[in-house]
Amino acid sequence: MTQPLLQVDAIEALYGQAILAVRDVSLEVRQGAVVALLGANGAGKTTTLKAISNLLGAERGSLSRGTIRWKGEPTARLGPSELVRRGIVQVLEGRHVFPQLTVEENLLAGGFLRRPSRRQIAADLEQVYAWFPRLKQRRGSKAGLTSGGEQQMVAIGRALMTRPTLVLLDEPSMGLAPIIVQEIFEIIRTLNREDGVSFLIAEQNANLALRYADHAYILETGRVAAAGPAAELAAREDVKEFYLGAG
Ligand code: ATP
Repeated sequence: MTQPLLQVDAIEALYGQAILAVRDVSLEVRQGAVVALLGANGAGKTTTLKAISNLLGAERGSLSRGTIRWKGEPTARLGPSELVRRGIVQVLEGRHVFPQLTVEENLLAGGFLRRPSRRQIAADLEQVYAWFPRLKQRRGSKAGLTSGGEQQMVAIGRALMTRPTLVLLDEPSMGLAPIIVQEIFEIIRTLNREDGVSFLIAEQNANLALRYADHAYILETGRVAAAGPAAELAAREDVKEFYLGAG
């Protein structure tokens, strides 16, 4: 079997000296997979994603145990921007668009790390607009004035401008109407199938995420409580009872 793109091996993550947010998480993402990271509020999903993209330091957090490997190589010494250059990009929870910039300017901001040519940028932008036709319509609008769903699309589109191999997506459904969330997940699936982009998606909405993911991990107080192919997990009685609201 080929080596996974991403291997997270028994990590523990702390905020400050004492807040243990992740106690023991191991997971992997294979090339071309959509993997869901599920669990209640506070279970450690965001912390796990930030540990992978080396963003914990910005919040006085640190990886206190375990190893994370990207294409077989430990990532501990690689900064967040180096990881982006190597193909891992994170879309933060809460979208974080630049509200005063237009939709298009926000997208362009995502491309700069690779120092691409103008032609390349134009091609990447057209590609993002092909995935998100709504953003093309709204290209000249200030991002802060677009809807929540459009802002989530901007945040994902901006990440795609880095030409990622793996997108870490934190809580894409947060605060959005179900119909918009479904639209976003459909686009993710298309991106995955047609372009081979892999995704690791942290989601509280387990019902939804299990419908779109190939594989899933359920976190509980910083540990992996259950894991497996998404369809198998969705069919398990204990998972249904505790996580899918169908007791
Ligand atoms: P959410 O859906 O709320 O994002 P989550 O599953 O992503 O939940 P985390 O945000 O990773 O969970 O939080 C895990 C634990 O770490 C929680 O107990 C939380 O209170 C704590 N925590 C998260 N961020 C910080 C921080 N910056 N400083 C201190 N503690 C934090």
